[in-house]
Amino acid sequence: MKWTKMMIQTLRDDPQDAEIDSHKLLVRASLVKKISGGLYTFLPLGMRSLRKVAAIIREEMDRAGAQELVMPILQPAELWQQSGRWEAMGPNMFKLKDRAEKPYALGPTAEEEVTDVVKSIVSSYRQLPITVYQIQWKFRDEIRPRFGLMRSKEFLMKDAYSFDVSLDAADASYQAMYDAYKRIFARCGLKAYPVEADTGDIGGKFSHEFHVLAEAGEDGIAFCPGCGYAANLEKAERKVAAAAGEPCPAYEEVHTPNAKTIEQVSAFMGVPGSAFVKSLVYAADGKPVMVCVPGDRDVNEVKLKHFLNAKTLELADYEMVLKASGANAGSVGPVKPAQADLRIVADQALKGATGRIVGANKDDYHLKNVDLARDTAIADGDYADLVIAQAGDVCPRCGKTMELKRGIEVGHVFKLGTKYTDAFKAVYKNDQLQENVMVMGCYGIGVSRTVQAVIEQSHDKDGIIWPASVAPFQVVIDLLDPTDKAVAKVAFDLEAQLEAAGIDVLVDDRADRPGVKFKDADLIGFPVRVVVGAKGLANGGVEVKRRDQDKSRMKIVPTADAVAAIRELLAQ
Ligand code: ATP
Ligand code: MG
Repeated sequence: MKWTKMMIQTLRDDPQDAEIDSHKLLVRASLVKKISGGLYTFLPLGMRSLRKVAAIIREEMDRAGAQELVMPILQPAELWQQSGRWEAMGPNMFKLKDRAEKPYALGPTAEEEVTDVVKSIVSSYRQLPITVYQIQWKFRDEIRPRFGLMRSKEFLMKDAYSFDVSLDAADASYQAMYDAYKRIFARCGLKAYPVEADTGDIGGKFSHEFHVLAEAGEDGIAFCPGCGYAANLEKAERKVAAAAGEPCPAYEEVHTPNAKTIEQVSAFMGVPGSAFVKSLVYAADGKPVMVCVPGDRDVNEVKLKHFLNAKTLELADYEMVLKASGANAGSVGPVKPAQADLRIVADQALKGATGRIVGANKDDYHLKNVDLARDTAIADGDYADLVIAQAGDVCPRCGKTMELKRGIEVGHVFKLGTKYTDAFKAVYKNDQLQENVMVMGCYGIGVSRTVQAVIEQSHDKDGIIWPASVAPFQVVIDLLDPTDKAVAKVAFDLEAQLEAAGIDVLVDDRADRPGVKFKDADLIGFPVRVVVGAKGLANGGVEVKRRDQDKSRMKIVPTADAVAAIRELLAQ
């Protein structure tokens, strides 16, 4: 392919709305073009990488025994009403109507649709297990579309769904996808780590996200260097010993005027945040619950929601806080709240804690010398792990100290159970001709997000450094003297030889200066660069170099040996 025949427009300057390197590079290297917030056109170069990632996914899905299909993006509302998600998805789902006022959604995912399809075809255990997948555009009205393709309104997803006769059988389907994911990300040149993830409203232990570690990642991950335990912060556990405090004198009131936050009260009283108990009132399914955690920690709302077994959870409004505790938010505490039967739950680390400072349930007052067992009505069973894990916490598996990392979620494997098959009555007959509900799993990969994750993980100050497997072109030939017929012939002959050898190559045949070509080659990040010029040819051949090697590693190889040399560089 000739550069002058391709629609490429590299940019010198970073786009103004780009915060992270990969987003800047996607735009500057002419891979995508923004249409509006969260909406991007894949330009020809970007499209090539997207197709290569999709091809790898397709090969590995097929290898794992999954079958490709494609379902409509436009999904009738009935399907979503049947599962209850028409409401539950809330404003995340793009909803629209046809001319007859029939409601639809632009698919954000496709559990409902696929269950409807499979149910209509599968009726016997003999037809199971089945795993189907599609590579299809998805739509989500994200609160904050940002970071380019990372969180967009429209994105390409590979979504697979497995159907099995039993939970045990579903384990095998899950494992097959898990293994396929490892191969997919490795083949894309990505280091992606399986991380234990929250299972949301569905429950069960079976959910792993695949994360690419990167500073720019939106997810926090607790990671144990001792045993490899890795979990999304939404779910990450920690081991805590009970506080086992010394006995303390009876509690007393302290006047703390104008001090609302733990930081302010701790500065006012001259004691560290850890001496405090942070107390918050939440509305769980509309009812108030007080939650107490160590003063220097934050409540993990996902853990809290699970612990309370609540469908909805949000911070209580001003009125509910006042009614439940007797004070405004800054002075709430677990000792004798206004609502005598208020349920109070507390973090495990507070079990046995003494000598703590808590809100007095009276504005501008705190209590000191609080012994939680002695002075509060928190039930033994209401102590649980309720805080967000942090660096330095103890690993729940091996007891070593955990670290904190940031990750980009590129994939998610999820054992769903019967949530959707129940809702759709997706049943099969077993060998006794009895009807049973199918057990389902779902498995997503953000295909467009993966393209950007590769860039985020592999770039330098000059541009992208593509792994050969997903580069728009594996090789760029910088033709320095395009008007010199003999030199051009060398370049185009080499192009033909490389293509015959199955290596895709772009010939930069523009009339520009060498410096411009080198800069663009580095920016777009083709894995191997070949320079063909009159000077080089006079010196014995063409210059070859990998993108990730500096100039000193450039080699001159005789033209006749160029294909072999390039092949060798690509294989390194
Ligand atoms: P996130 O937590 O990042 O919002 P999610 O857990 O909602 O993602 P899933 O429903 O698991 O996403 O979707 C499967 C995959 O689709 C994700 O692992 C991710 O790679 C990708 N994905 C999800 N939302 C977006 C988006 N807005 N833009 C691009 N890719 C996305
Ligand atoms: Mg997910």
